[in-house]
Amino acid sequence: MRNLSLHGVLCAVLIILIFTLPSCAASEPSVTSFTAMDTLMTLTVYGDSKAADRLEDRVKALDERLSATDAKSEIARLNADGTAVLSDETAALISRSLSLCEALDGAFDITVYPAVRAWGFTTGDYTVPSDERLAELADLIDFHSVSLDGNTAALPEGAMLELGAVAKGYLADISDDILSEGGASCAILNFGGTIKLYGSKPDGTPFRVGVADPASPSSYFGYLSCPPGVIATSGGYERCFTADDGTTYIHILDPSTARPVDNGVLSVTVFTDDGVYADALSTALFVMGRDAAISYRAAHPDFSLILLTDDGALYLSDDIAADFTLSPGCGYTVRTI
Ligand code: AMP
Ligand code: MG
Repeated sequence: MRNLSLHGVLCAVLIILIFTLPSCAASEPSVTSFTAMDTLMTLTVYGDSKAADRLEDRVKALDERLSATDAKSEIARLNADGTAVLSDETAALISRSLSLCEALDGAFDITVYPAVRAWGFTTGDYTVPSDERLAELADLIDFHSVSLDGNTAALPEGAMLELGAVAKGYLADISDDILSEGGASCAILNFGGTIKLYGSKPDGTPFRVGVADPASPSSYFGYLSCPPGVIATSGGYERCFTADDGTTYIHILDPSTARPVDNGVLSVTVFTDDGVYADALSTALFVMGRDAAISYRAAHPDFSLILLTDDGALYLSDDIAADFTLSPGCGYTVRTI
């Protein structure tokens, strides 16, 4: 099988930074780049030379705590033993995630992990499970089965959970305190697919963020001018593989079938000021598909939405239609919803 994980995403990260930085502040920023949570992160902070390093330490500590693939982490111990006493932070994030699983009607489900593993998305050793195995995996996926009593979590036999679809949004949320304690004036924190924009540019203009083009993830199909907040993008191109029969499978799974989503959606970008919400939403709206995602946005206009489908239609929520600019030569058809 051919691994199509596109490292061009890293280039997209750079493009985003190049695009957003120059007018952020007159002084030199502190910048740090490192790999955590299986992705390249680049943190840029103005007005506090130590904040980027403090953030990096916090990100790495959280990765050790939450990583489902690190046997020593709290999540891996819970998955291995079926029960664990968790730190306050991990228990609180699971609790918040379970509320979002409910609110998003199971399109976002933190118990999808056994299926993520079975398809090989954790190791890169990709495989297409049999229909029988997929039926067993689908039976195991059910966030209602997670028990959380104070800091004690428990899972039924065979169930496992992961917080990969919200961890970067959580990083965005906890960054506020780390940035404000040192008096940072402006920050662009690229956690890899989830970008936190903090503070204000001295010239008072909005931030401008490029959105990676799934057809060529090292470039962007357009950019959004926006105030401080969090932009989370879920894209099939971030991790996928093509099987011997030519079928491409992506890393975002439909919890009801345990299969990779194949509904014509290519990428979903959510902008709001709540990082965990943005991150859970981008994953869930991808799973829901175009029509349900548009209906969800109509019923919950507390976030901005950019959704691209494989017929070249680019759906923009009406609140940002005037703030989004298509890249020159990009042939997508913009539709305001
Ligand atoms: P994101 O990039 O935020 O959309 O998160 C995708 C990651 O979350 C995947 O790589 C999986 O590890 C996990 N995941 C996949 N599908 C789901 C789902 N429906 N609900 C929750 N997590 C998921
Ligand atoms: Mg997400």
